Amino acid sequence: MIQENLEKIKATLPKNVTLVAVSKTKPVEDLQEAYNAGQRVFGENKIQEMVDKFDVLPKDIQWHMIGHLQSNKVKYMAHFVDLIHGVDKLKTLKVINKEAKKHNRIINCLLQAKIAEEVSKFGLSFANIESILQSDDFAVLENVNIAGFMGMATFTSDENQLNKEFSSLKKFFDKQKEEINLPNCNLKTLSMGMSGDYPLAVKKGSTMVRVGSAIFGNRNYY
Ligand SMILES: *Cc1c(COP(=O)(O)O)cnc(C)c1O
Repeated sequence: MIQENLEKIKATLPKNVTLVAVSKTKPVEDLQEAYNAGQRVFGENKIQEMVDKFDVLPKDIQWHMIGHLQSNKVKYMAHFVDLIHGVDKLKTLKVINKEAKKHNRIINCLLQAKIAEEVSKFGLSFANIESILQSDDFAVLENVNIAGFMGMATFTSDENQLNKEFSSLKKFFDKQKEEINLPNCNLKTLSMGMSGDYPLAVKKGSTMVRVGSAIFGNRNYY
């Protein structure tokens, strides 16, 4: 089933769109099955769970942290994490920078923008993203690279609403890409779209989709 789901989804994605298989709460057997079907990029939302899976699975997997970050746990993934999607504070970037430095690495991060209407969703306003990127505090962080932005749309089937939210982030992304010229900010990735809305997100310019239940089946908990 997992292999079939992956193949179906991949067939619909343009070549420039990266598929992150969101494997949170799923057992390593499921991840191994996806790996055997050729999947190499996996997304987890809890650091400890990601570390446990990293330890036992093949080492050519690229691990993405997509959850809300606890600063005190960044150190556990700093030696291997490939991309951190959910950065929504300068303070967190500073912690990531410090931990990356210990391992002589540059860790790629996405700033999470708040595009949804729901109050429960994390993320920065566009104005806050701009002020972080223009700050002197950010300029000295040599061990992080802002590779793009991440957004989560409102949980709705209203396509107009979704289109509006995805388009607003795409527009902001394009504008920043033109304007920003910093060594630690190279905007290439726009992470938008989940199982329920990734086809729309791709139409609106997403370059990275985070798909869980459409690959692995429903989760019992988040
Ligand atoms: C769980 C999760 C996903 C995947 O959700 P599905 O609806 O199962 O595809 C994507 N992004 C984030 C940030 C998540 O926490």
